[in-house]
Amino acid sequence: MTTAAKKKTVPRKRAQAATRAIAAPSQRRSEPAAKPVEWKLHQSDGLEILEAPALARLGWLVHGFSTRPGGASKLTTNAMSGRRASRKTKNARTNGSVLNLGFTDWDSRKSVVANRKKFFHALGTEKMEIVTLRQIHSDIAHRVDSSSALVKEAAQGDALITREPGILLVVQTADCIPILLADTKRHAVAAIHSGWRGTLNRIAAKTLGRMQMEFGTRPEDVVAALGPGIGRCCYEVGPEVVVDFHAKFPQAGQWFDGPFDSLAAGENDPNWLPWLTMKPPGHQPPPLGANLDLIAANRAILTDVGVPPARVFSSGFCTACRTDLFFSYRREHTTGRMLAAIGIR
Ligand SMILES: [Zn+2]
Repeated sequence: MTTAAKKKTVPRKRAQAATRAIAAPSQRRSEPAAKPVEWKLHQSDGLEILEAPALARLGWLVHGFSTRPGGASKLTTNAMSGRRASRKTKNARTNGSVLNLGFTDWDSRKSVVANRKKFFHALGTEKMEIVTLRQIHSDIAHRVDSSSALVKEAAQGDALITREPGILLVVQTADCIPILLADTKRHAVAAIHSGWRGTLNRIAAKTLGRMQMEFGTRPEDVVAALGPGIGRCCYEVGPEVVVDFHAKFPQAGQWFDGPFDSLAAGENDPNWLPWLTMKPPGHQPPPLGANLDLIAANRAILTDVGVPPARVFSSGFCTACRTDLFFSYRREHTTGRMLAAIGIR
């Protein structure tokens, strides 16, 4: 339960500051009523839980994305030693108590269990059946019912769907994109873990396809919330990822910054590229990778199968830019894990 001491650790001002500092420049000064609506950091039991407004107003479901501050885990990280670190170091809360919700090597099982209990309590879901996965960067989605074996033991896969009240679907991330889906007509939900491999394999569309098959979900009735994950600003990937995306998506070029065309064509020899871009020879070599926008890719994957673009929402948060609020495996390596959860009340 909430105590005065716990409340003190997450003062209200801090949350307001975090909300104001949302990543997209176009949203920085906008009011809550402006479009798109800013996601809210909801204060509960000394935790800050990120909510997608489009899901929060659906009274029949419960959802939330965990954030970093406020747990029982002690994380000491040297994440700030990287070259990107200097500007962000000052206001980062990297040392001290964090809400690590994954069973990582550096943390004790006891702390993680306590953190999970605290998170599910803050979410108001402690009485629900909590269903997790052993995530393997696949495109496998499981249907969950109260009689499913999955309720007792986590299955391998990266997405969960249900239409049964009392079941909380949970995915774990620390840079990959957590995606929550809600069918507003048939009252079904999904939780999806989508990193670059899951995105490449269109896991979000396949999960929606499974909802169509199992529940009769129509894509036009779906609301999608793409939670905090590593942004286009920070997610450099190698040529092999570029080649894979190029092979699978005609519009992939829109999702990358950097020498997409030359990398997709297998032309990543750093010596002759400057000729093409007309840079003076001997200055900076071209990057050997390109930056991938997983949010844009997952948005396109969902809209391509019929989810209305106006019903696909993203938080605007990059986990690597905002290690004060989230965990970033790419940036920190030794770090915690966040959970995204959705269920029917
Ligand atoms: Zn970033």
